[in-house]
Amino acid sequence: MNSARKPLIAGNWKMHLGGIAGIELAAKCMDIARQNPHVELVVAPPFTAIAAIAQECEEQGEHGGHCGVAAQNMNAKSAGAYTGEVSPAMLAEAGATWVILGHSERRQHYGETDQQVHEKVAAAFVAKLVPIVCIGETLEERESGQTLTVVKRQLSAFVELLQEHVALPSAIAYEPVWAIGTGKTAGPAEAEEVHAAIREVLSAQSAELAAKTRILYGGSVKADNAKALLAAANVDGALVGGASLEAASFGAIARAAESLVVSS
Ligand code: PEP
Repeated sequence: MNSARKPLIAGNWKMHLGGIAGIELAAKCMDIARQNPHVELVVAPPFTAIAAIAQECEEQGEHGGHCGVAAQNMNAKSAGAYTGEVSPAMLAEAGATWVILGHSERRQHYGETDQQVHEKVAAAFVAKLVPIVCIGETLEERESGQTLTVVKRQLSAFVELLQEHVALPSAIAYEPVWAIGTGKTAGPAEAEEVHAAIREVLSAQSAELAAKTRILYGGSVKADNAKALLAAANVDGALVGGASLEAASFGAIARAAESLVVSS
Protein backbone atom coordinates (compact mmCIF):
# COMPACT_ATOMS: atom_id res chain seq x y z
CA MET A 1 0.00 0.00 0.00
CA ASN A 2 1.21 3.47 -0.78
CA SER A 3 -0.19 6.36 1.24
CA ALA A 4 -0.48 8.48 -1.93
CA ARG A 5 -3.39 6.29 -3.09
CA LYS A 6 -6.58 5.86 -1.03
CA PRO A 7 -7.15 2.13 -0.63
CA LEU A 8 -10.16 0.80 -2.53
CA ILE A 9 -12.11 -2.16 -1.19
CA ALA A 10 -14.73 -3.39 -3.65
CA GLY A 11 -17.25 -6.17 -3.02
CA ASN A 12 -18.36 -8.27 -5.96
CA TRP A 13 -21.67 -9.81 -4.94
CA LYS A 14 -21.86 -11.87 -8.15
CA MET A 15 -25.32 -13.50 -8.56
CA HIS A 16 -26.30 -13.06 -4.89
CA LEU A 17 -28.32 -10.66 -2.74
CA GLY A 18 -30.78 -9.32 -5.29
CA GLY A 19 -33.57 -8.45 -2.86
CA ILE A 20 -34.05 -7.00 0.60
CA ALA A 21 -30.93 -8.79 1.91
CA GLY A 22 -28.85 -6.70 -0.50
CA ILE A 23 -30.37 -3.47 0.79
CA GLU A 24 -29.70 -4.56 4.37
CA LEU A 25 -26.08 -5.34 3.51
CA ALA A 26 -25.71 -1.99 1.73
CA ALA A 27 -26.90 -0.22 4.91
CA LYS A 28 -24.23 -2.12 6.87
CA CYS A 29 -21.63 -1.20 4.24
CA MET A 30 -22.46 2.44 4.90
CA ASP A 31 -21.67 1.83 8.59
CA ILE A 32 -18.37 0.26 7.48
CA ALA A 33 -17.67 3.33 5.32
CA ARG A 34 -18.31 5.68 8.25
CA GLN A 35 -16.07 3.62 10.52
CA ASN A 36 -13.20 3.50 8.00
CA PRO A 37 -12.96 6.98 6.50
CA HIS A 38 -9.51 6.44 4.95
CA VAL A 39 -10.83 3.62 2.77
CA GLU A 40 -12.94 3.96 -0.39
CA LEU A 41 -15.73 1.38 -0.43
CA VAL A 42 -17.64 0.04 -3.45
CA VAL A 43 -20.26 -2.70 -3.74
CA ALA A 44 -21.26 -4.44 -6.96
CA PRO A 45 -24.76 -5.94 -6.68
CA PRO A 46 -26.60 -7.72 -9.51
CA PHE A 47 -28.10 -5.40 -12.18
CA THR A 48 -31.64 -5.62 -10.78
CA ALA A 49 -30.58 -4.33 -7.37
CA ILE A 50 -28.38 -1.43 -8.50
CA ALA A 51 -31.06 1.28 -8.32
CA ALA A 52 -32.31 0.28 -4.87
CA ILE A 53 -28.79 -0.10 -3.46
CA ALA A 54 -27.69 3.24 -4.93
CA GLN A 55 -30.72 4.90 -3.35
CA GLU A 56 -30.02 3.26 0.01
CA CYS A 57 -26.38 4.41 -0.08
CA GLU A 58 -27.43 7.93 -1.04
CA GLU A 59 -30.00 8.18 1.75
CA GLN A 60 -27.59 6.75 4.32
CA GLY A 61 -24.94 9.17 3.07
CA GLU A 62 -26.91 11.97 4.75
CA HIS A 63 -25.47 10.58 8.01
CA GLY A 64 -21.94 10.61 6.58
CA GLY A 65 -19.86 8.04 4.75
CA HIS A 66 -19.90 7.04 1.12
CA CYS A 67 -20.16 3.70 -0.64
CA GLY A 68 -20.00 3.64 -4.43
CA VAL A 69 -22.13 1.25 -6.47
CA ALA A 70 -20.67 -0.76 -9.33
CA ALA A 71 -22.18 -2.94 -12.03
CA GLN A 72 -20.51 -6.30 -12.58
CA ASN A 73 -20.59 -6.03 -16.38
CA MET A 74 -22.21 -4.04 -19.18
CA ASN A 75 -22.58 -3.98 -22.94
CA ALA A 76 -20.27 -1.57 -24.76
CA LYS A 77 -23.04 -0.40 -27.11
CA SER A 78 -25.15 2.60 -26.16
CA ALA A 79 -28.54 1.22 -27.31
CA GLY A 80 -30.13 -1.11 -29.84
CA ALA A 81 -31.51 -4.55 -30.52
CA TYR A 82 -29.38 -6.46 -28.00
CA THR A 83 -31.85 -8.56 -26.04
CA GLY A 84 -30.87 -9.08 -22.43
CA GLU A 85 -28.09 -6.51 -22.43
CA VAL A 86 -27.62 -3.36 -20.35
CA SER A 87 -25.92 -0.20 -21.62
CA PRO A 88 -23.44 2.04 -19.77
CA ALA A 89 -25.93 4.93 -19.73
CA MET A 90 -28.61 2.69 -18.19
CA LEU A 91 -26.23 1.79 -15.37
CA ALA A 92 -25.41 5.44 -14.76
CA GLU A 93 -29.13 6.29 -14.77
CA ALA A 94 -29.74 3.56 -12.19
CA GLY A 95 -27.12 5.11 -9.91
CA ALA A 96 -23.98 3.09 -10.64
CA THR A 97 -20.77 5.10 -10.80
CA TRP A 98 -18.38 2.15 -11.19
CA VAL A 99 -18.26 -0.94 -13.39
CA ILE A 100 -16.27 -4.17 -13.08
CA LEU A 101 -15.04 -5.23 -16.54
CA GLY A 102 -13.31 -8.34 -17.86
CA HIS A 103 -13.93 -10.43 -14.74
CA SER A 104 -12.48 -13.90 -15.26
CA GLU A 105 -15.94 -15.44 -14.84
CA ARG A 106 -17.08 -13.38 -17.85
CA ARG A 107 -13.99 -14.37 -19.81
CA GLN A 108 -14.35 -18.07 -18.83
CA HIS A 109 -18.11 -18.65 -19.00
CA TYR A 110 -19.16 -16.09 -21.62
CA GLY A 111 -16.09 -16.02 -23.85
CA GLU A 112 -15.34 -12.36 -23.24
CA THR A 113 -12.28 -11.35 -25.25
CA ASP A 114 -9.55 -8.73 -24.78
CA GLN A 115 -11.14 -6.84 -27.71
CA GLN A 116 -14.53 -6.74 -25.94
CA VAL A 117 -12.85 -5.60 -22.74
CA HIS A 118 -11.20 -2.82 -24.76
CA GLU A 119 -14.59 -1.71 -26.12
CA LYS A 120 -16.21 -1.83 -22.69
CA VAL A 121 -13.44 0.21 -21.06
CA ALA A 122 -13.80 2.86 -23.78
CA ALA A 123 -17.59 2.91 -23.29
CA ALA A 124 -17.24 3.16 -19.50
CA PHE A 125 -15.20 6.35 -19.85
CA VAL A 126 -17.78 7.85 -22.21
CA ALA A 127 -20.55 7.12 -19.66
CA LYS A 128 -18.40 8.49 -16.79
CA LEU A 129 -18.36 5.10 -15.06
CA VAL A 130 -15.11 4.26 -13.26
CA PRO A 131 -13.81 0.97 -14.68
CA ILE A 132 -12.28 -1.73 -12.47
CA VAL A 133 -10.67 -3.88 -15.13
CA CYS A 134 -9.81 -7.47 -14.16
CA ILE A 135 -6.82 -9.42 -15.41
CA GLY A 136 -5.20 -12.64 -14.25
CA GLU A 137 -3.76 -15.98 -15.26
CA THR A 138 -5.19 -19.49 -14.99
CA LEU A 139 -3.46 -22.20 -12.96
CA GLU A 140 -2.17 -23.81 -16.16
CA GLU A 141 -0.70 -20.50 -17.31
CA ARG A 142 0.97 -19.93 -13.93
CA GLU A 143 2.41 -23.43 -13.83
CA SER A 144 3.87 -23.02 -17.30
CA GLY A 145 5.55 -19.74 -16.32
CA GLN A 146 3.19 -17.59 -18.40
CA THR A 147 1.79 -15.35 -15.63
CA LEU A 148 3.45 -12.07 -16.59
CA THR A 149 3.01 -12.67 -20.33
CA VAL A 150 -0.73 -13.28 -19.91
CA VAL A 151 -1.27 -10.36 -17.55
CA LYS A 152 0.66 -7.99 -19.82
CA ARG A 153 -1.28 -9.16 -22.87
CA GLN A 154 -4.61 -8.56 -21.11
CA LEU A 155 -3.36 -5.18 -19.90
CA SER A 156 -2.18 -4.14 -23.36
CA ALA A 157 -5.81 -4.38 -24.56
CA PHE A 158 -6.84 -1.33 -22.54
CA VAL A 159 -3.82 0.44 -20.99
CA GLU A 160 -3.70 3.08 -23.73
CA LEU A 161 -7.34 3.92 -22.97
CA LEU A 162 -6.43 4.45 -19.30
CA GLN A 163 -3.68 6.81 -20.45
CA GLU A 164 -6.00 8.63 -22.87
CA HIS A 165 -8.35 9.24 -19.93
CA VAL A 166 -5.65 9.73 -17.31
CA ALA A 167 -7.58 12.66 -15.84
CA LEU A 168 -10.42 10.24 -14.94
CA PRO A 169 -10.17 7.60 -12.19
CA SER A 170 -9.74 3.93 -13.04
CA ALA A 171 -8.58 0.76 -11.30
CA ILE A 172 -7.10 -2.57 -12.29
CA ALA A 173 -7.81 -5.78 -10.40
CA TYR A 174 -5.18 -8.52 -10.55
CA GLU A 175 -7.15 -11.69 -9.94
CA PRO A 176 -5.33 -14.97 -10.46
CA VAL A 177 -8.11 -17.22 -11.78
CA TRP A 178 -6.92 -20.15 -9.65
CA ALA A 179 -7.49 -18.07 -6.49
CA ILE A 180 -11.06 -16.92 -7.21
CA GLY A 181 -13.65 -18.62 -5.04
CA THR A 182 -11.24 -21.47 -4.31
CA GLY A 183 -9.94 -20.48 -0.88
CA LYS A 184 -6.43 -20.46 -2.39
CA THR A 185 -4.76 -17.10 -2.46
CA ALA A 186 -1.56 -15.69 -3.86
CA GLY A 187 0.89 -14.93 -1.08
CA PRO A 188 1.79 -11.27 -0.59
CA ALA A 189 5.13 -11.76 -2.42
CA GLU A 190 3.45 -13.54 -5.35
CA ALA A 191 0.83 -10.79 -5.59
CA GLU A 192 3.43 -8.04 -5.29
CA GLU A 193 5.53 -9.47 -8.12
CA VAL A 194 2.59 -9.17 -10.53
CA HIS A 195 1.39 -5.83 -9.15
CA ALA A 196 4.88 -4.36 -9.59
CA ALA A 197 4.93 -5.60 -13.20
CA ILE A 198 1.54 -3.98 -13.81
CA ARG A 199 2.82 -0.73 -12.30
CA GLU A 200 5.79 -0.85 -14.69
CA VAL A 201 3.45 -1.15 -17.67
CA LEU A 202 1.53 1.87 -16.37
CA SER A 203 4.81 3.77 -15.91
CA ALA A 204 5.69 3.14 -19.54
CA GLN A 205 2.51 5.09 -20.41
CA SER A 206 3.15 7.93 -17.96
CA ALA A 207 4.34 8.65 -14.45
CA GLU A 208 0.92 10.18 -13.73
CA LEU A 209 -0.95 7.01 -14.73
CA ALA A 210 1.38 4.85 -12.62
CA ALA A 211 1.05 7.16 -9.63
CA LYS A 212 -2.74 7.41 -9.57
CA THR A 213 -4.07 4.04 -10.80
CA ARG A 214 -5.10 1.71 -8.02
CA ILE A 215 -4.16 -1.92 -8.52
CA LEU A 216 -6.41 -4.20 -6.48
CA TYR A 217 -5.71 -7.80 -5.57
CA GLY A 218 -8.57 -10.28 -5.85
CA GLY A 219 -8.80 -14.00 -5.14
CA SER A 220 -10.07 -15.38 -1.83
CA VAL A 221 -9.28 -12.23 0.13
CA LYS A 222 -10.60 -12.81 3.65
CA ALA A 223 -10.41 -11.13 7.03
CA ASP A 224 -7.37 -13.20 8.01
CA ASN A 225 -5.18 -12.62 4.91
CA ALA A 226 -6.22 -9.08 3.92
CA LYS A 227 -3.72 -7.14 6.00
CA ALA A 228 -0.66 -9.02 4.72
CA LEU A 229 -1.79 -8.66 1.09
CA LEU A 230 -2.70 -4.97 1.46
CA ALA A 231 0.66 -4.24 3.09
CA ALA A 232 2.49 -5.08 -0.17
CA ALA A 233 3.90 -1.94 -1.79
CA ASN A 234 1.88 -2.07 -5.02
CA VAL A 235 -1.37 -3.48 -3.64
CA ASP A 236 -3.84 -0.58 -3.39
CA GLY A 237 -6.93 -2.44 -2.32
CA ALA A 238 -8.94 -5.59 -2.86
CA LEU A 239 -11.69 -6.93 -5.07
CA VAL A 240 -13.56 -9.26 -2.74
CA GLY A 241 -16.08 -11.92 -3.77
CA GLY A 242 -17.27 -14.41 -1.14
CA ALA A 243 -16.15 -12.37 1.87
CA SER A 244 -18.09 -9.32 0.66
CA LEU A 245 -21.43 -11.09 1.20
CA GLU A 246 -21.23 -10.72 4.98
CA ALA A 247 -20.81 -7.38 6.70
CA ALA A 248 -18.54 -8.91 9.36
CA SER A 249 -15.93 -10.18 6.90
CA PHE A 250 -16.19 -7.24 4.49
CA GLY A 251 -15.89 -4.86 7.45
CA ALA A 252 -12.83 -6.69 8.74
CA ILE A 253 -11.13 -6.30 5.33
CA ALA A 254 -11.94 -2.57 5.29
CA ARG A 255 -10.56 -2.29 8.85
CA ALA A 256 -7.34 -4.00 7.77
CA ALA A 257 -6.89 -1.34 5.05
CA GLU A 258 -7.84 1.47 7.43
CA SER A 259 -5.30 0.32 10.04
CA LEU A 260 -2.51 0.25 7.44
CA VAL A 261 -3.30 3.83 6.38
CA VAL A 262 -3.60 5.11 9.92
CA SER A 263 -0.32 3.48 10.99
CA SER A 264 1.62 4.65 7.90
C1 PEP B 1 -14.12 -12.09 -7.30
O1 PEP B 1 -15.25 -12.46 -7.52
O2 PEP B 1 -13.65 -11.16 -7.97
C2 PEP B 1 -13.35 -12.76 -6.25
C3 PEP B 1 -12.12 -12.39 -6.05
O3 PEP B 1 -13.98 -13.75 -5.54
P1 PEP B 1 -13.46 -14.46 -4.19
O4 PEP B 1 -13.03 -13.36 -3.25
O5 PEP B 1 -14.63 -15.22 -3.68
O6 PEP B 1 -12.31 -15.33 -4.56
